[in-house]
Amino acid sequence: MRLYLWNNLDDRKVLKTKCKPVEKFDDKLKETVLEMRQRCGEYRGYAIAANQLGLDTQIIVIKIPQKGSKKKAKKGLRYILINPVIVKSSEEVIPWKESCLSFPQRSRWIDRPKKIEVEYKDEEGKTCILCADDLLSRIIQHEIEHLNGEVFINRPETKGV
Ligand SMILES: [Zn+2]
Repeated sequence: MRLYLWNNLDDRKVLKTKCKPVEKFDDKLKETVLEMRQRCGEYRGYAIAANQLGLDTQIIVIKIPQKGSKKKAKKGLRYILINPVIVKSSEEVIPWKESCLSFPQRSRWIDRPKKIEVEYKDEEGKTCILCADDLLSRIIQHEIEHLNGEVFINRPETKGV
């Protein structure tokens, strides 16, 4: 696995393609998730979507660094979302300056719902619900966009921040 970049036209095709849902929750899936987590750590991202690593599958891994003890900080807040779908969004939107591993040196202020509820499968195939707000909500929305073959730079930029 390697990082796919928007500036590479072959990579861009992959980043613009909607990923297929995971159907088999087997050992191969767990290996894929593990490798995605390792890559995400290597690239020092908070999260990565499967197609950013060239995979045609609906998986997102998230690792948000935590303040506090060294052990806690190292572990971070981790989520693995498979076949995620946003089922509820708050009316309240907030601006945030987003960046993306596939777009080095670029960032953009974007408005998105502050809170969301997302339905997804875990590695065992169990359906789960996660309520997220602020940074986590933002990350999940950005990554689900990737799985749908969309990217943040095509969103309108928020003015006046
Ligand atoms: Zn991104």
